[in-house]
Amino acid sequence: MKGKSLSKSLLLLALLLMGVLFSIPTSKASGNLAGVKICLDPGHGGSDPGAVNENFNLHESEINLDVANGLKHLLEDDGAEVVLTRVDDSYKTNSDRYTFCNDEQATILVSVHTNSVTDPTWDGSMALYAPSRDPDLARAIHDEMYPFLRITAPDQDAFRDFGIGNYASGVLFKCNMPAAMMEPLFMSHPAEAALLVESIYDPITSKLSAGCEEFSCRRGEIAQAIYLGIHNYYGDESTPMMHVAAIDMSSKQRKDTFFIYSQVIVQDTAANPVPGASVAHTFTLPDGSKLINAGITGDDGVVIFKVRSEQAGQYESAVTSISKTGWVYDPVSNLETSEMLAVP
Ligand SMILES: [Zn+2]
Repeated sequence: MKGKSLSKSLLLLALLLMGVLFSIPTSKASGNLAGVKICLDPGHGGSDPGAVNENFNLHESEINLDVANGLKHLLEDDGAEVVLTRVDDSYKTNSDRYTFCNDEQATILVSVHTNSVTDPTWDGSMALYAPSRDPDLARAIHDEMYPFLRITAPDQDAFRDFGIGNYASGVLFKCNMPAAMMEPLFMSHPAEAALLVESIYDPITSKLSAGCEEFSCRRGEIAQAIYLGIHNYYGDESTPMMHVAAIDMSSKQRKDTFFIYSQVIVQDTAANPVPGASVAHTFTLPDGSKLINAGITGDDGVVIFKVRSEQAGQYESAVTSISKTGWVYDPVSNLETSEMLAVP
């Protein structure tokens, strides 16, 4: 048992701080997107807010810009050069947008939007490309974006795959480079909208928001999903990926006290153990209360979490995120994400 179970609050605090410092999905000094210039196009802006969800005070133009800024951060960490068609809440015509990307001689153009319909039960991902243009970029991003956002969706069953489609937008067909428009999810879905309130960047300080550590907020997940898709387009297999290979729970009883253990195994795509990964974990106790803890995997890729309680009943162990410098957490590849155990 090389894994460590950490219950002392000081250690937890230290780990959470480490998570903030080290958890951006990848940060390779060399940068495997070196030489790539990406033109990001946050949709709408200024007098055109795009979709609006008044119940949650959400404006699509603001979400798109925040997601694009987060995506820029992730891509630049990998050595890409990134430019944005707008950097504030200003109005841009389609012509302004594709002309800017053409003048910048960008390698690809990715337009970021957020979907909306009148039926609040709709949720899911779609990627668009211009008729008569190559769908490869839209497809490569969508292939990563959809499963990533489904597995992290507030209602996985409702999260539909709308696939890739044609859209005759001037931004997409008048630019000189491969282009795609992303509609990652529906801001009209109330559970999505509630999550979308949290921004990646604090609008006042322009720093990463406290509520979006590790890009863990919904907007951060959108940025990560598109980021993985852009890596997919460039056929990058050098970015190491990790996932949860197993969660095994066990218990011991001493008089009226239960000791619940959960062993989490983190592996790479070749099923090798990943040591040094910071795992965020939640125990749900029989009375519904939650215990959030964090730990770091040992040489065997294993970390063990422990809770001591006097409650009999059902316990759940769930991994909420994993981070390691230079690595990407790929929850789509998880073989397990949670496990239940009843005691006694
Ligand atoms: Zn839009």
